[in-house]
Amino acid sequence: MNIGFIGLGNMGGPMAANLAKAGHTVTGFDMADVSIEGVTMAASAAEAATGADVVITMLPNGQILRAVADDVIPAMAEGATLVDCSTVDVDSARAVADQAGSANLMFVDAPVSGGIGGASGGTLTFMAGGSAAAFAAAEPLFDIMGQKAVHCGDAGAGQAAKICNNMILGITMIGTCEAFALADKLGLDRQKMFDVVSTSSGYSWSMNAYCPAPGVGPQSPADNDYQPGFAAELMLKDLRLAQQAAHSADADTPMGALAQALYSMFVEEEGGAGKDFSAMLPRFEARSRHD
Ligand code: NAD
Repeated sequence: MNIGFIGLGNMGGPMAANLAKAGHTVTGFDMADVSIEGVTMAASAAEAATGADVVITMLPNGQILRAVADDVIPAMAEGATLVDCSTVDVDSARAVADQAGSANLMFVDAPVSGGIGGASGGTLTFMAGGSAAAFAAAEPLFDIMGQKAVHCGDAGAGQAAKICNNMILGITMIGTCEAFALADKLGLDRQKMFDVVSTSSGYSWSMNAYCPAPGVGPQSPADNDYQPGFAAELMLKDLRLAQQAAHSADADTPMGALAQALYSMFVEEEGGAGKDFSAMLPRFEARSRHD
């Protein structure tokens, strides 16, 4: 296939490289001066999209996605498919889907989980929204860039699944960290805490697969001085998107709102920027009840 790839950062760069390695012709564009193995660089997003069967975007946010869509949609041939893999607000995903539909293009919102390791290893999970035909057009590329793609429903459903998942993740990570900090103060050994909780009803991915306590459980960013991993500011971004969606859908999400408030304090006032999102554990450890 001829593929246009726009946004070749930490995630998009290795994803585009994997498509090229699999034998596709990939033309890329990024605002920054980047070069990616096997990818021919274009001078603009529109140029990268011209003649492409599929255009993939991997951009920082919904506002940038909307601006890039304004450039690439008019350059794309009728019947081609636009696949946005960025994590953006549900409203932007649906607006771009409508715009693509009006130009007789297919659209899939397909945010990912799996992080930078998953992008370079080709093991991402895609959560996709769009028509069955649009999903079918993108699926062979998901198979190259990832190990699993779930068709979640119509346009916007991929973003909805992503932010609901990450809202749970933010909440459970905070719960796991505050429970460890309480256990410390009660004199409970961290390894014993892990041994019990990881096999009891308090278990979760945060505890079992990504334990925030150094030296306990599987290797995780906690064992590397909380270098990300999944940075606290990216968690904050996703929690904000969840609250934005909750407002627009009139959903009551008090735990998600509290998780957003805590990550916002952590990132913006307490030095959490640049640390892994599991660094909530040393944050709680350093605090008392009345801080
Ligand atoms: P990044 O900042 O490394 O990459 C974004 C790229 O987009 C940059 O290279 C930037 O120059 C480029 N860009 C910005 N505006 C542009 C424009 N108008 N035209 C062309 N290029 C433009 O970010 P990333 O870590 O690759 O994340 C990309 C998306 O993936 C985000 O939406 C993020 O939330 C999501 N995501 C990231 C991770 C992760 O672990 N990094 C995990 C899952 C999802």
